[in-house]
Amino acid sequence: MDLIDKIGAGMSLLRSRYGTSRIPLTVSIEVTRRCNADCDYCDYKGEGEEISTSELKEMLEEMAELGTRQVVLTGGEPLMRDDIGEVVSSCKDLGMDVKLNSNGALVPYRLDDIEEVDKLTVSIDGPPKVHNSLRGEESFGKAMEGIKNAKDAGISVSMTTVISTGNSDSLDWVVEKSRELGVPVNFQIAVGGGPAGNEKYGVHTLPKEEIDEKVEQLKEYKRENPELVAPSIPTLDTIKKVYVDEEEVKCGLGVIGARIERGDITHCAHSRNSSGLDEGFEEGWRELSEEPDCNYACCTGNLELSNVYGLEPRTLQEHIFMDKY
Ligand code: SF4
Ligand code: SF4
Repeated sequence: MDLIDKIGAGMSLLRSRYGTSRIPLTVSIEVTRRCNADCDYCDYKGEGEEISTSELKEMLEEMAELGTRQVVLTGGEPLMRDDIGEVVSSCKDLGMDVKLNSNGALVPYRLDDIEEVDKLTVSIDGPPKVHNSLRGEESFGKAMEGIKNAKDAGISVSMTTVISTGNSDSLDWVVEKSRELGVPVNFQIAVGGGPAGNEKYGVHTLPKEEIDEKVEQLKEYKRENPELVAPSIPTLDTIKKVYVDEEEVKCGLGVIGARIERGDITHCAHSRNSSGLDEGFEEGWRELSEEPDCNYACCTGNLELSNVYGLEPRTLQEHIFMDKY
């Protein structure tokens, strides 16, 4: 997103926040639940009906009409879909940025399909042994090949690391790898619960004191590597508020963002509210409540979005001047 686009997005944010119409500036779409991996802490993966290419394209047109700036293609593994290149191109033709989340393994084979994505995010949980123990044998090598191939093809790449009991000692390694590859890294905390089903995360959740400690460590990394560690310091503080102090946050989802999963529109994977898409995306968005009913098991990206929504100055500044998520 260039500066002009960012100014446009900022204006839309203000209109959405203070005006009469809510604008789904960022929409995350679970395009499939199929996945070629079998991560230890995942129970998102599965089969089931998927949104068809034509349904997706119709929704994307409605999103663009409503003012959506960024579409996040997620799964499962989005690259399991044969039509993913067509979906990416549709987003770009409609003037929307596209981010794609992947485990990286299929990236070398699908470069033509993803060459237009604005950001490819690949999951890396630690050094080979740690990553493979959490995400399956040989998964580390495949993820790294994915990152390298994407970078060589000129695609902007970031990493994401889920902090859990399985890799809590690997954060130094992750930051060093991010520096070596020149690829920014985002961090998620593995937390259980949530109607969308990630109970397995709970088994891997660190005790509160350790989350507290890890967040302090991340803040230190952020001070040393402001361009490489994706969450802003205020967002890292918000992580602490949510997971350690159990404070509720004012979430921007429902006003400036939404998620499509299992054929419904909702706030995020942890929201209990949803509305149907039978009448199209626009109608579903209008029917979605502004205030989510959820268990505050927010992901870092959504907490950052909440800080953007709250016009938190340092977070906003980073979004204007850095190539973030
Ligand atoms: S890559 Fe993602 S969707 Fe696939 S099994 Fe792992 S966590 Fe689940
Ligand atoms: S879990 Fe967090 S991001 Fe999701 S709807 Fe609730 S407050 Fe918002």
